[in-house]
Amino acid sequence: MKVFNIASNLHSYLRSRKKLQIGFVPTMGALHNGHLSLVKKSTSENDLTVVSIFVNPTQFGEKADLEKYPRPIEKDLSMLELAGVDCAFVPEVSEVYPENFKEIDIDLGNLENTLEGKQRPGHFKGVCNVVYRLFDIVKPNRAYFGQKDFQQTVVIRKLITEKKLDIDLRIIPIVRENHGLAMSSRNQRLTSDCRKNASFIYQTLGWAKSQLKTLSLEEIIHRSKQKLSEQNGATVEYFEAINGIDMKPVDSLVEAPIIAIVCVVKYCGVRLLDNIILKSEQ
Ligand code: AMP
Repeated sequence: MKVFNIASNLHSYLRSRKKLQIGFVPTMGALHNGHLSLVKKSTSENDLTVVSIFVNPTQFGEKADLEKYPRPIEKDLSMLELAGVDCAFVPEVSEVYPENFKEIDIDLGNLENTLEGKQRPGHFKGVCNVVYRLFDIVKPNRAYFGQKDFQQTVVIRKLITEKKLDIDLRIIPIVRENHGLAMSSRNQRLTSDCRKNASFIYQTLGWAKSQLKTLSLEEIIHRSKQKLSEQNGATVEYFEAINGIDMKPVDSLVEAPIIAIVCVVKYCGVRLLDNIILKSEQ
């Protein structure tokens, strides 16, 4: 595996191998099996896979959260090497945002201010800027993102459409820990008990989906929130049924072709993000 720190070196290397199909997996490191499932998909669908590891400061609201973000770079690189990745891109902040860096102009509409956007002002503009910059360096044929960050996939789809990028967006299902908690780099901040107990989030999402034939969606959401709040130490930031195309709230399953429940529950001091698809086109 080749490791690049300099954008122009990676760019030149990839251009010299121009007939190849390139798959790209952007990450912030502290890799786990969730990331590796994106990598596996990419290596199976492309001639060459590039993985970036970059903790993007512009998508963090709180400085403390950015500073606390785990950075086990040596371990990450060995995992990528083992997974058969061709190029790892591990840039410094100044390499991604050089002095002449110009923010892109993109109107995210309600995506910017709803749900994750509302909780984390500026987050999705930060995501768009870093992903657009990384796309420009790598110029991938396919880009791999996790369903785990549902709203992010909707934002990236909008970025690709608005900027008319010729990139196939591939969305990969959530990988979970044995007890059901969605894998996340932030789970490292949980004690093993908290990690195990946190399965109540996925169980509640599963319960919600299982009630679709019995209860109204509104009633399901109401009861699910109640179940979650009954858990000791849990605070529900949001738990909503949304249209999977634009993240707008829905009250019934007939309102959109793709419907999901997205949620954030704060538990043991960590924001845990999860979702379940209730209805999809396939
Ligand atoms: P991050 O390093 O958290 O920015 O994540 C990099 C990519 O991995 C994003 O597209 C995430 O959605 C995806 N990802 C993170 N956790 C999981 C998971 N548990 N299952 C599948 N994909 C994931």
